[in-house]
Amino acid sequence: MTNPPMIPITRVEIGPEEEAEVLEVLRSGQLAQGPKVAALEQAFVDLTGARHAIAVSNGTISLVAALQALDLAPGAEVVTSPFTFVATVNAALEAGATVRFADIDPGSYLIDPAAVADVIGSSTAVLMPVHLYGQAADIGALAPLADSVGAAVVEDAAQAHGAEFEGRRVGSFGIGSFSLYATKNVMTGEGGMITTNDDAIADRLRLLRNQGMRVRYHYEVAGHNYRLTDLQAAVGLPQMRRLHERTERRRRNAAGLSERLRGVEGLVLPTELPNRRHVWHQYTVRITADARIDRDGVIDGLGAAGIGCGIYYPKAAYDYDCYRGHRRVVGASCPEAERAAREVLSLPVHPSLTDSDLDRIAAAVHALLGDPA
Ligand SMILES: *Cc1c(COP(=O)(O)O)cnc(C)c1O
Repeated sequence: MTNPPMIPITRVEIGPEEEAEVLEVLRSGQLAQGPKVAALEQAFVDLTGARHAIAVSNGTISLVAALQALDLAPGAEVVTSPFTFVATVNAALEAGATVRFADIDPGSYLIDPAAVADVIGSSTAVLMPVHLYGQAADIGALAPLADSVGAAVVEDAAQAHGAEFEGRRVGSFGIGSFSLYATKNVMTGEGGMITTNDDAIADRLRLLRNQGMRVRYHYEVAGHNYRLTDLQAAVGLPQMRRLHERTERRRRNAAGLSERLRGVEGLVLPTELPNRRHVWHQYTVRITADARIDRDGVIDGLGAAGIGCGIYYPKAAYDYDCYRGHRRVVGASCPEAERAAREVLSLPVHPSLTDSDLDRIAAAVHALLGDPA
């Protein structure tokens, strides 16, 4: 008997459309930023409904540039979630800010507005919610909180291309920051995109991206090279055209998993909150103390059954020596983020899954965690 093929946690779908777009760039001889980047920017304007989109070299840089565009005072505070990819924290530090954390809501893993209310104040310059796993943070509660202290909102939408809050797309509320890294819902290998409704911010971002110049060798600010290449943008264009269909497949896979996994002791399933459109970058369950075996056992068992899984994220972002000792990371204790880090496990939900893949994933989880036969 041969083993069934491995079901990976993420799978890149690149086809003839991407090949044709890339070949067109190669043959044009213009590989650096050009018409493909402009087209990808327009696709993000269309996706988010924001007035402007500015492509940059990666998602971390898109956060850094978004913060730099706000011209923060030295040591200005950025309030964010500790339950995120560490790029969120690194970007704030790179931009010269001080980072302060607000704990998450244990049901959604998203930053908890009540916790934000406890930590924001006159030193808060930016509120940076993370639309984690593809679900929009509670912008309806967060935006007024930011307003109340005069803070800007920068949305870390790296995992949430096309996600919605009350019918409005993420990236259109504050300054939006997207990643186009190889595993994200839209990818160019490496890449990033910033969205904004603010003409002055957009203008400043375009300057910062290009050594501070609008006209060649006429420098208006001290800038940088944050540019994306046309070769990369070409890879993203067909994916933007297919995004709606691919997101619908993710949504269908998430619903299919939840249907199959309901009622398992010690297994908490993810949910789509009311008035949101979840784009299911990850399908993340919790393995609680009530489960028949612990999380390490589940990971081993899934591996043996040929099913990929991942822990996003294994620790609260502040819970590393390099941040514990950092003078611009405010000491934090966020018990819900720490508990989530101990309990979460992400299962495959990507658009390439078939019904029989969903059956296999569910059967493996039931075999590990279901009632002993
Ligand atoms: C991927 C990611 C980033 C960083 O994007 P890169 O393109 O990898 O630099 C930032 N924040 C979150 C939440 C991410 O998932």
